[in-house]
Amino acid sequence: MTRESSRRSLVFAFTLITKEMNEFEEEESFRDRVSTIAEDGKRLWVYPKRPQGRLFNYRNLAAYLLLLVFFITPFIKVNGDPLMLFNVLERHFIIFGVVFFPQDFHIFVLSMITFIVFVVLFTVIFGRIFCGWICPQTIFMEFIYRQIEYLIEGNNSRQRKLDDRSMDFDKLWRKTLKHLIFYLISLVTVFFFLAYVIGMDRVQELINAGPVENPAGFIGMLIFAAIHYLVFAKLREQVCIIICPYGRLQGVLLDRNSIIVSYDYNRGEPRAKHNPLEDREKASKGDCIDCNSCVLVCPTGIDIRNGTQLECINCTACIDACNNIMERVHKPKGLIRYASERSIAEGTRLKFNIRILFYSVVLTGLLILIGYLFSIRTDIESTILRMPGSIYQEYDSLHYSNIYTIRLINKTRKDLPVNLLIDDEEGFIKMMGGPLVVGKGQVGKATFLLVIEKSKIKKSLTEVEFKVMSDGREMDEIEATFVGPNDPDNNPGSDDD
Ligand code: SF4
Ligand code: SF4
Repeated sequence: MTRESSRRSLVFAFTLITKEMNEFEEEESFRDRVSTIAEDGKRLWVYPKRPQGRLFNYRNLAAYLLLLVFFITPFIKVNGDPLMLFNVLERHFIIFGVVFFPQDFHIFVLSMITFIVFVVLFTVIFGRIFCGWICPQTIFMEFIYRQIEYLIEGNNSRQRKLDDRSMDFDKLWRKTLKHLIFYLISLVTVFFFLAYVIGMDRVQELINAGPVENPAGFIGMLIFAAIHYLVFAKLREQVCIIICPYGRLQGVLLDRNSIIVSYDYNRGEPRAKHNPLEDREKASKGDCIDCNSCVLVCPTGIDIRNGTQLECINCTACIDACNNIMERVHKPKGLIRYASERSIAEGTRLKFNIRILFYSVVLTGLLILIGYLFSIRTDIESTILRMPGSIYQEYDSLHYSNIYTIRLINKTRKDLPVNLLIDDEEGFIKMMGGPLVVGKGQVGKATFLLVIEKSKIKKSLTEVEFKVMSDGREMDEIEATFVGPNDPDNNPGSDDD
């Protein structure tokens, strides 16, 4: 080979590599920007086509069931209290009828951590399935607001035309009606959200009182409703793409084994337009007929054929769209389907890896711990303290006494009569102020004397054990100390702790 020919080969190889790199950069350029933001930084409004298909029907069912649960739950009461309450301001939580007090905060926090670990584990295995099927943002957007939009403004192409044309009467009434309904729904939804915080009774009181009696509360509600309205009328998919922290975590949670909505590029490529007279196999063409149906239905405006993208909320609309097309061109369904990247690339099934094992072990450990904490959680939480600064007293010629205060938290949903017991051998109790009854969910306090025979006091500090009883049932056991004289045999004087 001459010097000139080897120089030409080098130049040719360099040109080829540069060309391939440029092509690769072009192919991957969609990863450099958010699908709904144009290069000049302007928002690209997404007009997704109304989805149709088996998965959409299932999602419809799941969404309306969840909405039913959301709107009915605030009305459900157990023994006069809401079934669920998340009163952050007053630190009062009721979850499935179980009342949580600030003293139970550790159980509450652990439950939340367990929930997060569960979501992480679930995401590692099933990808972003939560976003498409359960997330309130998707459910409200796709099954309430978007459906109203389709009803008033028509399907995607009509919506686009309506937005593009200048204002006329038809556009005016459609837009006005849509936004009015959007705002009213937001207002109602915010009332229901508030019912989860302060309870439906207090929300109804607020409504009955009217804006004149409670102007601050009403203005607050209108502002929250306006924020809710803006999220669904304007922000929309930007919440999932830019704001949602769970969406941001996808990059670290997903791996090649995670099940996500995937395009089978091995089967679909090379894509080419459909020609009913052509045998695609002989022509070495893939099953994708490049019809764009999967892109048209996407609520985040992406093309799933580009691979896993952070914008994908796994809503399955593209699966339905592609299945409908495959049916029409007599090809097997599932060109877009739930699958892992590995299974698409290698044709293998989901593998149980170390990461899944680790999360499973952590999750199981947390569940066991929560189960244990629930099992030792008492209906009454009590504290007994000797009156600060008090010393022992001569009750009579045969007995000494100590004065105590008891503080009780009734964690049940009924009023509880409470009495204290101590072993007969040890002494007897004299309650002050009559029988003690602690109201449901309330804190009760009482003062009492513990009286012990002088002959039984052998040292300055004697261990005693109280039993907290209610309706003949032992609710709690508390240990305390009884103060006697320093030298019980010779010294009848007093002593402090
Ligand atoms: S790519 Fe498919 S699954 Fe993902 S958001 Fe778009 S339509 Fe939904
Ligand atoms: S809907 Fe299916 S066939 Fe049509 S472009 Fe998308 S992947 Fe290809």
